[in-house]
Amino acid sequence: PRPLKAPAETRVITVANQKGGVGKTTTTVNMAAALAEGGLRVLVIDLDPQGNASTALSIEHRSGVAGVYDVLIDEATILEVMQSSPELPDAKGSIDVVPATIDLAGAEIELVSLVARETRLRRALQDLRDEKAYDLVLIDCPPSLGLLTVNGFVAADEVFIPIQCEYYALEGVSQLIRNISLIQRHLHPDLRVGGILMTMFDARTRLATQVAQEVRDHFGEVVLETLIPRSVRISEAPSYGQTSISYDPEGPGARAYRSAALEMTERWARA
Ligand code: ADP
Ligand code: MG
Repeated sequence: PRPLKAPAETRVITVANQKGGVGKTTTTVNMAAALAEGGLRVLVIDLDPQGNASTALSIEHRSGVAGVYDVLIDEATILEVMQSSPELPDAKGSIDVVPATIDLAGAEIELVSLVARETRLRRALQDLRDEKAYDLVLIDCPPSLGLLTVNGFVAADEVFIPIQCEYYALEGVSQLIRNISLIQRHLHPDLRVGGILMTMFDARTRLATQVAQEVRDHFGEVVLETLIPRSVRISEAPSYGQTSISYDPEGPGARAYRSAALEMTERWARA
């Protein structure tokens, strides 16, 4: 595999879109695997109580397992709760995971009454940033704009937005952008949108092509050139506790996510 260039500082990227089923988790785990295959040290933080990212990376996350809940509510450290993913054992890079268990579902409410409720994840990441323990941290957000996602925004340097190439694709996105502006104004002025990735693109339909063009017209350069194709192989991988990079290394998902990962690292090199 082609070596990728690590960023000079730890980069924290939160993958967000309040719409469910647009490819957040698939993008998080496949980008993580593509970057690890390219030699980077990656940490994935699963912020969705469903724990789909933990599943895809073959990480134990039954109720009671230590995870991001303990970090947010009980101030456990990330190193105390993280587990190493067996994905890509021969790669130069690596993937560690802070799992999400179903206990995290209650955190959305429990956080409300805690001090510094919006900055808890950011604080938990500070030591890792100082030590440069990882090249990259990818945060998989739940499909909502509640306090878990707010923690993801505040912890991040940039937001990465997957958009599904379908009718109404843009509708939820303007609400998402408004929320990011609110976070910038009140909590985190340096937060920016680092990339928009179009997912589940079906080249056979005119609609998908139209939507892709509309997204490019609307958002311009922040949209990645790479399109993630719709492919059954991509949706099969998680049930084997794998990403497309290991499950189907020469398949359409692995190729597309490698290309998206390369684009991201080239953007950091330019910035
Ligand atoms: P989210 O995290 O935004 O809810 P997921 O990544 O879980 O979205 O994707 C939703 C569903 O679509 C999952 O079943 C996933 O396997 C499937 N999926 C994601 N990307 C693709 C793709 N490119 N082609 C086919 N199926 C996909
Ligand atoms: Mg998800």
